Amino acid sequence: MSETQPRRVENSIMRLALTSTELALGKNGYYAVLHMAGLDVYVETLPPDSHDLETPGEHFAALFNGMLTMYGEGPARGLFRRWGTIFGTTAIKRRPSAALLKPLLWVLPIQRRVRTVLDVVVDEANQARGAELHTLQDAIDHYVITFRDCLYCDGLHPAEPICYAIVGTLEAALKWGTGRDFAVREVQCHARGADACVFEVTKQPLHV
Ligand SMILES: [Zn+2]
Repeated sequence: MSETQPRRVENSIMRLALTSTELALGKNGYYAVLHMAGLDVYVETLPPDSHDLETPGEHFAALFNGMLTMYGEGPARGLFRRWGTIFGTTAIKRRPSAALLKPLLWVLPIQRRVRTVLDVVVDEANQARGAELHTLQDAIDHYVITFRDCLYCDGLHPAEPICYAIVGTLEAALKWGTGRDFAVREVQCHARGADACVFEVTKQPLHV
Protein backbone atom coordinates (compact mmCIF):
# COMPACT_ATOMS: atom_id res chain seq x y z
CA MET A 1 0.00 0.00 0.00
CA SER A 2 2.68 2.47 0.98
CA GLU A 3 4.58 1.61 -2.22
CA THR A 4 1.76 2.74 -4.48
CA GLN A 5 0.36 5.67 -2.47
CA PRO A 6 2.37 8.64 -1.20
CA ARG A 7 2.59 8.67 2.58
CA ARG A 8 0.72 11.63 3.96
CA VAL A 9 0.17 13.13 7.39
CA GLU A 10 -2.57 15.53 8.46
CA ASN A 11 -1.33 19.14 8.36
CA SER A 12 -2.47 19.80 11.93
CA ILE A 13 -0.48 16.78 13.18
CA MET A 14 2.73 17.98 11.49
CA ARG A 15 2.08 21.43 12.95
CA LEU A 16 1.68 19.91 16.42
CA ALA A 17 4.79 17.76 15.93
CA LEU A 18 6.80 20.90 15.13
CA THR A 19 5.51 22.93 18.08
CA SER A 20 6.10 19.92 20.39
CA THR A 21 9.68 19.73 19.11
CA GLU A 22 10.24 23.40 19.90
CA LEU A 23 8.85 22.92 23.42
CA ALA A 24 10.96 19.79 23.99
CA LEU A 25 14.25 21.23 22.65
CA GLY A 26 14.00 24.99 23.11
CA LYS A 27 14.28 27.45 20.22
CA ASN A 28 17.96 26.91 19.39
CA GLY A 29 17.73 23.13 19.41
CA TYR A 30 14.54 23.29 17.38
CA TYR A 31 16.03 25.40 14.59
CA ALA A 32 19.19 23.28 14.54
CA VAL A 33 17.10 20.10 14.14
CA LEU A 34 14.97 21.66 11.37
CA HIS A 35 18.13 22.55 9.50
CA MET A 36 19.74 19.16 10.05
CA ALA A 37 16.54 17.41 8.95
CA GLY A 38 16.26 19.44 5.73
CA LEU A 39 13.02 20.98 7.01
CA ASP A 40 13.98 24.66 6.64
CA VAL A 41 10.68 25.13 4.84
CA TYR A 42 9.05 25.20 8.31
CA VAL A 43 11.32 27.85 9.85
CA GLU A 44 9.11 30.71 8.70
CA THR A 45 5.76 28.99 8.26
CA LEU A 46 4.06 26.12 10.06
CA PRO A 47 1.63 23.88 8.16
CA PRO A 48 -2.00 25.07 8.43
CA ASP A 49 -4.02 23.79 11.38
CA SER A 50 -6.25 21.72 9.07
CA HIS A 51 -7.21 18.06 8.74
CA ASP A 52 -6.09 17.91 5.11
CA LEU A 53 -3.65 15.09 4.34
CA GLU A 54 -1.10 17.29 2.56
CA THR A 55 2.11 16.92 4.57
CA PRO A 56 4.57 14.38 3.12
CA GLY A 57 5.13 11.54 5.58
CA GLU A 58 8.85 11.94 4.89
CA HIS A 59 8.78 15.36 6.61
CA PHE A 60 7.36 13.84 9.80
CA ALA A 61 9.99 11.08 9.73
CA ALA A 62 12.80 13.59 9.04
CA LEU A 63 12.02 15.37 12.30
CA PHE A 64 12.88 12.26 14.34
CA ASN A 65 15.83 11.47 12.13
CA GLY A 66 17.14 15.00 12.78
CA MET A 67 16.73 14.71 16.56
CA LEU A 68 18.42 11.30 16.67
CA THR A 69 21.32 12.51 14.53
CA MET A 70 21.82 15.62 16.60
CA TYR A 71 21.53 14.16 20.12
CA GLY A 72 22.56 10.50 19.71
CA GLU A 73 20.51 7.45 20.60
CA GLY A 74 20.88 7.49 24.41
CA PRO A 75 19.78 11.11 24.96
CA ALA A 76 17.21 10.79 22.15
CA ARG A 77 15.26 8.13 24.09
CA GLY A 78 14.49 10.54 26.94
CA LEU A 79 13.96 13.37 24.51
CA PHE A 80 11.49 11.41 22.38
CA ARG A 81 9.56 10.39 25.49
CA ARG A 82 9.32 14.02 26.61
CA TRP A 83 8.28 14.97 23.09
CA GLY A 84 5.54 12.31 23.31
CA THR A 85 4.29 13.68 26.63
CA ILE A 86 4.05 17.20 25.17
CA PHE A 87 2.52 15.99 21.90
CA GLY A 88 0.00 13.71 23.66
CA THR A 89 -1.06 16.29 26.23
CA THR A 90 -1.45 19.06 23.63
CA ALA A 91 -3.24 16.78 21.17
CA ILE A 92 -5.85 15.91 23.79
CA LYS A 93 -6.40 19.48 24.97
CA ARG A 94 -7.06 20.75 21.46
CA ARG A 95 -9.70 18.13 20.69
CA PRO A 96 -13.10 19.77 21.25
CA SER A 97 -14.58 16.38 22.16
CA ALA A 98 -12.01 15.84 24.93
CA ALA A 99 -13.89 18.15 27.30
CA LEU A 100 -17.01 16.05 26.72
CA LEU A 101 -15.19 12.73 26.95
CA LYS A 102 -13.53 13.28 30.30
CA PRO A 103 -16.65 13.35 32.53
CA LEU A 104 -17.91 10.26 30.68
CA LEU A 105 -14.63 8.46 31.35
CA TRP A 106 -14.80 9.28 35.02
CA VAL A 107 -18.01 7.29 35.57
CA LEU A 108 -16.51 4.18 33.95
CA PRO A 109 -14.55 1.49 35.80
CA ILE A 110 -10.81 2.00 35.28
CA GLN A 111 -10.52 -0.94 32.84
CA ARG A 112 -13.15 0.63 30.56
CA ARG A 113 -11.37 3.97 30.78
CA VAL A 114 -8.10 2.42 29.61
CA ARG A 115 -9.81 0.67 26.71
CA THR A 116 -11.68 3.86 25.69
CA VAL A 117 -8.54 6.02 25.79
CA LEU A 118 -6.57 3.51 23.70
CA ASP A 119 -9.42 3.23 21.16
CA VAL A 120 -9.39 7.03 20.79
CA VAL A 121 -5.59 7.14 20.34
CA VAL A 122 -5.70 4.43 17.65
CA ASP A 123 -8.58 6.20 15.84
CA GLU A 124 -6.71 9.50 15.95
CA ALA A 125 -3.53 7.86 14.65
CA ASN A 126 -5.47 6.34 11.72
CA GLN A 127 -7.06 9.72 10.95
CA ALA A 128 -3.66 11.41 11.08
CA ARG A 129 -2.42 9.12 8.28
CA GLY A 130 -5.70 8.68 6.41
CA ALA A 131 -5.24 4.91 6.55
CA GLU A 132 -5.96 2.00 8.88
CA LEU A 133 -2.33 1.47 9.85
CA HIS A 134 -2.88 1.23 13.62
CA THR A 135 -4.70 -1.47 15.57
CA LEU A 136 -5.57 -2.37 19.15
CA GLN A 137 -5.79 -5.96 20.38
CA ASP A 138 -6.89 -7.30 23.73
CA ALA A 139 -4.60 -9.87 25.42
CA ILE A 140 -5.15 -11.42 28.86
CA ASP A 141 -3.31 -8.94 31.05
CA HIS A 142 -2.30 -6.29 28.54
CA TYR A 143 -3.29 -4.45 25.38
CA VAL A 144 -1.28 -4.68 22.17
CA ILE A 145 -1.05 -1.61 19.93
CA THR A 146 0.47 -1.99 16.48
CA PHE A 147 1.80 0.89 14.33
CA ARG A 148 2.42 -0.20 10.73
CA ASP A 149 4.51 1.97 8.39
CA CYS A 150 5.71 3.85 11.50
CA LEU A 151 7.06 7.32 10.68
CA TYR A 152 8.61 7.75 14.16
CA CYS A 153 11.46 5.36 13.31
CA ASP A 154 11.46 5.35 9.50
CA GLY A 155 15.05 5.33 8.23
CA LEU A 156 16.58 5.16 11.73
CA HIS A 157 19.19 2.55 12.67
CA PRO A 158 19.09 2.37 16.47
CA ALA A 159 20.63 -0.34 18.66
CA GLU A 160 17.38 -0.67 20.65
CA PRO A 161 13.68 -0.01 19.95
CA ILE A 162 13.43 3.77 19.52
CA CYS A 163 9.76 4.79 19.29
CA TYR A 164 9.72 6.43 22.72
CA ALA A 165 7.70 9.31 21.26
CA ILE A 166 4.77 6.89 20.91
CA VAL A 167 5.41 5.49 24.41
CA GLY A 168 5.29 9.05 25.81
CA THR A 169 2.12 9.87 23.87
CA LEU A 170 0.35 6.73 25.15
CA GLU A 171 1.48 7.42 28.72
CA ALA A 172 0.20 11.01 28.54
CA ALA A 173 -3.16 9.99 27.06
CA LEU A 174 -3.67 7.28 29.70
CA LYS A 175 -2.75 9.64 32.52
CA TRP A 176 -5.22 12.22 31.21
CA GLY A 177 -8.06 9.74 30.74
CA THR A 178 -7.65 7.56 33.83
CA GLY A 179 -5.76 9.65 36.38
CA ARG A 180 -3.29 6.77 36.76
CA ASP A 181 0.09 5.73 35.35
CA PHE A 182 0.43 2.62 33.19
CA ALA A 183 3.49 0.70 32.04
CA VAL A 184 3.92 1.14 28.27
CA ARG A 185 6.73 -0.52 26.39
CA GLU A 186 7.74 -1.07 22.80
CA VAL A 187 8.25 -4.80 22.31
CA GLN A 188 8.98 -4.75 18.55
CA CYS A 189 10.41 -1.92 16.46
CA HIS A 190 10.42 -1.63 12.67
CA ALA A 191 13.80 0.12 12.90
CA ARG A 192 15.14 -3.10 14.48
CA GLY A 193 13.85 -5.25 11.64
CA ALA A 194 10.32 -6.08 12.83
CA ASP A 195 7.36 -5.87 10.44
CA ALA A 196 5.74 -3.19 12.57
CA CYS A 197 6.20 -1.27 15.82
CA VAL A 198 4.33 -3.03 18.61
CA PHE A 199 3.55 -1.66 22.08
CA GLU A 200 2.24 -3.39 25.19
CA VAL A 201 0.17 -1.56 27.78
CA THR A 202 -0.51 -3.30 31.10
CA LYS A 203 -4.16 -3.40 32.12
CA GLN A 204 -3.44 -2.70 35.78
CA PRO A 205 -2.17 0.75 36.74
CA LEU A 206 1.24 1.12 38.32
CA HIS A 207 1.27 1.42 42.12
CA VAL A 208 2.99 4.73 42.58
ZN1 LIG B 1 8.44 2.88 15.03
